[in-house]
Amino acid sequence: ELRDKAAAWTGPAALADGHPVDLLANVKDGEGAEDAARGPAGGIGLFRTEMAFLSRPSEPSVEEQAELYARVLGAFPGAKVVTRTLDAGSDKPLAFTGMPDEENPALGVRGIRVDLLDRGLVDRQLDAIAEAGRRVGAAQESPWVMAPMIATVDEARDFGERCRERGLTPGIMVEVPAVAVAVDRFLPHVDFLSIGTNDLTQYVMAADRMSSGLAALNDPWQPAVLRLIHRVVETAAASAAGGTGRIVPVGVCGEASADPHLAMVLLGLGVSSLSVAPAALPFVGAALAEVTLEQCRAFAALALDADTAGAARAAVLGAARA
Ligand code: PEP
Ligand code: MG
Repeated sequence: ELRDKAAAWTGPAALADGHPVDLLANVKDGEGAEDAARGPAGGIGLFRTEMAFLSRPSEPSVEEQAELYARVLGAFPGAKVVTRTLDAGSDKPLAFTGMPDEENPALGVRGIRVDLLDRGLVDRQLDAIAEAGRRVGAAQESPWVMAPMIATVDEARDFGERCRERGLTPGIMVEVPAVAVAVDRFLPHVDFLSIGTNDLTQYVMAADRMSSGLAALNDPWQPAVLRLIHRVVETAAASAAGGTGRIVPVGVCGEASADPHLAMVLLGLGVSSLSVAPAALPFVGAALAEVTLEQCRAFAALALDADTAGAARAAVLGAARA
């Protein structure tokens, strides 16, 4: 049934009560961005730059990178496009980063930690994104850029400074539990947050995301994961309301947002955007069109009140059917 509705759904994304939904696409290259732009995506919530370079033996030049980034930025003129700096390491090794073989690569040098080996890699990437921004001009003022695997306030501050120096809009991913727990201290240094539920779940549950045997643990419906997401959203909202007046939007770009019922829960918790694989976008869009924001809030309350992932899912599915 959802399959038929998805096939018929053309966007733009909105809830049944008319509330607009910022429903974005996850992409990995220029072609993917242009494909997404022909569909109902409102923009790009996650451009995984490392995926474009997985097979490269050497670092792409700044010029080559700028061309790629300009193509992605240019695919959505005037809309949000979030480029993520290299998330090399662990499940996505990049030969040219010189990353060591490690016992526990998911807990090792990955994401922004590549700075420990060579700060030039991310600096040159930021130069290339800034250059791409200049090339697309008014279509993308101050491109949004985010860093993966941020764990400390020092890393966030440093990344924020490196972006602002170049006229870029800095954000960080929330995928290490340390950030979610202490998120109030990170907010002053960034303009947006993006929750990566794939890694956040893996690290909260101490369950390798690559292990099929641990799929039941590695489930974003786990109450501890939902509570952490809730905490991040509430803290960002409270900070805006509590006198800073600075609104730091919180999006979700992990696979959790591609589960239609979990997408409802996330909106009910107050996340401001969802970014999903393009193939999942019509399913999420069609499902969201059937529910109101008030229903999403009720689903979120049910999920937060559950003791187990299974109970949370059953409660929300039951309520959505009713
Ligand atoms: C995530 O961790 O949820 C995420 C979106 O990043 P990736 O899947 O690329 O690690
Ligand atoms: Mg991740």
